Amino acid sequence: MTTGLIMPFDYDLFVIGGGSGGVRAARIAASEGQARVALAEESRMGGTCVIRGCVPKKLMVFAAGHGRGLADAQAYGWQVSAGGFDWPGFQIKLRAELERLETAYRGTLSRAGVTVFDSRATLADPHTVVLADGQKITAAHILVATGGWPDLPDHVQGQVMTSNEIFDMAQLPRTILIVGGGYIACEFACVLAGLGVQVTQYYRGTQILRGFDDEARGHVARAMVEQGIDLRTMTDVASLSRGENGTVVHSTTGDQTVFDAVLYATGRRPNTQGLGLEALGIALGPNGAVPVDDYSQTVIPSIFAVGDATDRVNLTPVAIREGHAFADTVFRGIPTKADHDLIASAVFTRPELASIGLTEEAATALGPIEVYTATFRPMHSAFAGRADQVMMKLVVCRQTRRVLGCHIVGDQAGEMIQLVAIAVKMGATKEDFDRTVAVHPTMAEELVTMRNPTRVT
Ligand code: NDP
Repeated sequence: MTTGLIMPFDYDLFVIGGGSGGVRAARIAASEGQARVALAEESRMGGTCVIRGCVPKKLMVFAAGHGRGLADAQAYGWQVSAGGFDWPGFQIKLRAELERLETAYRGTLSRAGVTVFDSRATLADPHTVVLADGQKITAAHILVATGGWPDLPDHVQGQVMTSNEIFDMAQLPRTILIVGGGYIACEFACVLAGLGVQVTQYYRGTQILRGFDDEARGHVARAMVEQGIDLRTMTDVASLSRGENGTVVHSTTGDQTVFDAVLYATGRRPNTQGLGLEALGIALGPNGAVPVDDYSQTVIPSIFAVGDATDRVNLTPVAIREGHAFADTVFRGIPTKADHDLIASAVFTRPELASIGLTEEAATALGPIEVYTATFRPMHSAFAGRADQVMMKLVVCRQTRRVLGCHIVGDQAGEMIQLVAIAVKMGATKEDFDRTVAVHPTMAEELVTMRNPTRVT
């Protein structure tokens, strides 16, 4: 792809945003595309994933899991006893780890020869960005990789926490209300419950984790209730106010409760406000998304956008792929579309929910299918006396025999789906799964030993 340029510019590429997508694009363009690249980041290098998302969240998931691990160890015969969870001690280590990662990101960019500006940058024209101090920089291409930001209803602005603030809480609350039923709400409900916080979760719809397989999300919801989370569906916040002893919340179902803290996880929106895109003729979507084509190019040929700013599939690895595809297309002469088909993902609840492909509901609507399910108590937790149940499901097309979807609820579901995803992406049939010999004794062996369909439609 070419933008037909002849003018000299300060840089070949200017990237706005140092998150997963922007950093990948900058590095590949500079190191493999031999481009002169600059990148501006107004906050910390690494973006949402590294600084206030996936990485600190997963470390909290691990921290919460160790509480249960100690109880399991006792059940297995170890003479151990847990004291309380040291939140400030954990935070010190967490901050050190995030600093290490941020330094690593900066090192990667520096080694690739990318010039970094620790500044906000906005667009002045199709080839010019302006830094916060007024400095103007020109570039042949500009990549918008500004990510997303928590989206709060207006009436709670300034009164509640979002996932941005949760890692910096001075102390763990005794009680918390979590509002929302998506990835972030459910993950933090489980993490905080695992750390000993009394969690109430309000979700406005009938079942959490909308969009995932119905049976799988029902399974997660039951497990969350069993671990003590007070999950209220068809419930929302009617009003809230700061009281002497915490936040006073009136629910739409008529309850009045005081919580030490309130976390809103009601979605995220593209972080594109005030960038100057609209003035250049790029009409943003209703939620601020930057419209792009399959090559992440906007209607202005020199301006591209990747990652959550485009609101396509808002996941770190997708942003990385989009950033890489952009660099390949524009700077390496390899036209590459970002592939958004069959993307696996995992929700790090306890138990985890991981899936790829079609839900049973979506597949049923498309044609005749077979559904294979296995629900069982895994060896590890059954021995420890826990009632955990694992659920695995394969959705199979009756005509082509292809596995259209796989849904797993259980410990390490995220690790399992990564491998299943390769087979599903390759177009594996149910018979390919069947002729794969099981690895015994594992949980994952159930994926290749489900012989009879549970449902045929
Ligand atoms: P989601 O879009 O997943 O969920 C938002 C939730 O908030 C939904 O349950 C939604 O309800 C509810 N909601 C929206 N608006 C309101 C409102 N005004 N009042 C009450 N409830 C409301 O967003 P998240 O914030 O959880 O996560 C954002 C994105 O980040 C995810 O979609 C995902 O792409 C990514 N992410 C991925 C993770 C992973 O891969 N493990 C982890 C964390 C985030 P309804 O269902 O009715 O719309």
